[in-house]
Amino acid sequence: MEVRAKKYLGQHFLKDENIARQIAESLTGSTKHVLEIGPGMGVLTKYLHANAELDFHAIEIDTESVVYLHDHYPTLHVIEGDFLALDLNELFCEPFAVIGNFPYNISSQILFKVYDNRNQIPEMVGMFQKEVAERVAAKPGSKTYGILSVLLTAFYDIEYLFTVHEHVFNPPPKVKSAVIRLRRNSTQALSCDEQLFTKVVKIGFNQRRKTLRNALKQLSMPLDKVPEPLLALRAEQLSVADFVTITQALESSVQ
Ligand code: SAH
Repeated sequence: MEVRAKKYLGQHFLKDENIARQIAESLTGSTKHVLEIGPGMGVLTKYLHANAELDFHAIEIDTESVVYLHDHYPTLHVIEGDFLALDLNELFCEPFAVIGNFPYNISSQILFKVYDNRNQIPEMVGMFQKEVAERVAAKPGSKTYGILSVLLTAFYDIEYLFTVHEHVFNPPPKVKSAVIRLRRNSTQALSCDEQLFTKVVKIGFNQRRKTLRNALKQLSMPLDKVPEPLLALRAEQLSVADFVTITQALESSVQ
């Protein structure tokens, strides 16, 4: 049966059981508390729900899917609502993993929410559009390296697990997909002002063709303490450590 996508909800249901199982099995078990975003008709859900060792919850915005899940998995904890509006502190007292074949229209917002709640989320396994997955997993020097790559790399080890072809979805999306895994690294805090760090990263990439010297003018902060060689580069050439160095230099110049 071909279903018509509720486009604004990013609904592309996975049909391939092997891929669904592979995604569910990609969680490393770092915590028994798990939240699935957008279970839809439950193709991933059933593998997670079947694992009695997990404290498993799912959040789904679409009423029709929620009714379906209640009917087919009566003991499943499914919250009807919007993940982006969910207060994560209320859901679990313990750190929890996030998993899903995510709604692609809100990919970046999901990733920023994971970043903002990084101390509560030790692990995330998820399917995104291939291009988004590549951006998140990109390393300095590549064209796809961007804001989310730097921010997430600062706190997570990121692995590109596998690519998924469009024909395994109903309805098929226009683009390929890919599954990535994020695992929290040991960095508790950056050795600089994290808000300023985020600002520097965003400003750098929003004008990614400019050198840092030109892009950072927008900050109206003295640049004289920032090492010359870094100012001559563009954001896409800098590592997390380079951005930390720049942020520290900016801080020291206003003290
Ligand atoms: N996991 C399922 C469905 C993937 S499609 C599968 O692999 O087949 C994405 C799902 O996310 C849809 O069920 C859609 O209704 C749901 N969704 C969309 N926006 C959401 C949001 N803001 N919060 C929670 N779920 C959302």
